[in-house]
Amino acid sequence: MNLDSKFIVGRLAERVDISDDLAIFHIQPEEPCNFIAGQYATLGVERDGKLIERAYSVASSPYEPLLEFFIELVPDGRLTPSIFNLRAGDALSVRRRFSGRFVLDTNSKTHHLMAATVTGIAPFTSMLRSYAVDAEAGRAVPMTFTVIHGASRSWELGTYRAEMEEMKKRVPNLIYVPTISRCGEDCDWRGEVGRVEDVLRKYADALPLEEASFSAYLCGHPQMIENARGVLTRARVDAKRIHSEKYFTL
Ligand SMILES: Cc1cc2nc3c(=O)[nH]c(=O)nc-3n(C[C@H](O)[C@H](O)[C@H](O)COP(=O)(O)OP(=O)(O)OC[C@H]3O[C@@H](n4cnc5c(N)ncnc54)[C@H](O)[C@@H]3O)c2cc1C
Repeated sequence: MNLDSKFIVGRLAERVDISDDLAIFHIQPEEPCNFIAGQYATLGVERDGKLIERAYSVASSPYEPLLEFFIELVPDGRLTPSIFNLRAGDALSVRRRFSGRFVLDTNSKTHHLMAATVTGIAPFTSMLRSYAVDAEAGRAVPMTFTVIHGASRSWELGTYRAEMEEMKKRVPNLIYVPTISRCGEDCDWRGEVGRVEDVLRKYADALPLEEASFSAYLCGHPQMIENARGVLTRARVDAKRIHSEKYFTL
């Protein structure tokens, strides 16, 4: 790869295929990357001599040597088919500068509601892994997290469902609520059923929505973000306390 100083080379260290169109990519950057948990990286692959780039939320914490991404294949997309063709050792470009303001609002906010569709769990994973390290080192104030994570089918929640369950041991005030919308295809499912925004509505009563210490974060599918924002706004959460990261436009 012939890249200028704005980029570094990343190499695929490992991938975990979750389904035909979902995979977790672990990338070894050629040098350490600076970012805040919740931010996104700009990844690129060359196609026909042209670099195609897109934004991807980092799922790993800034404390980890590898960058982790949870990516959905868009079959007619310009970049994701190339990413899904990558094999261990293959290179891709990573913009040196990581961006985004979708980070934990620590300005007197201690109760965080996080709602994600499928791959939208990535920034929350980064935030929680990072918070757990800081809490264990005595660097974090006590906080409460409610994470609602939705998918059509349970396996599309990836390895993050088990990770969030395990994370409760490190972050005691963490509530993780997985929900699926196509339970007919998932006979053994015993958890919540329905879309993220509907489950959010159900859990909203137990949350201190009107308190200044409350902050909400919505990530992933644009329709979920619009609907969840409506639920929160009607519950009198003011706009400044609702943060969102929309992955695409309809
Ligand atoms: C800040 C930010 C962070 C993001 N983080 C992630 C992430 O962690 N994981 C991830 O998988 N994606 C993420 N995305 C989306 C990603 O940047 C690309 O848009 C996506 O991977 C599609 O790229 P593509 O080039 O293959 O498709 P494109 O050629 O860009 O898109 C083709 C068409 O598909 C639509 N489309 C794009 N994504 C989807 C989708 N998921 N489902 C249905 N339609 C879609 C587009 O609106 C467009 O109409 C993020 C986007 C932003 C803005």
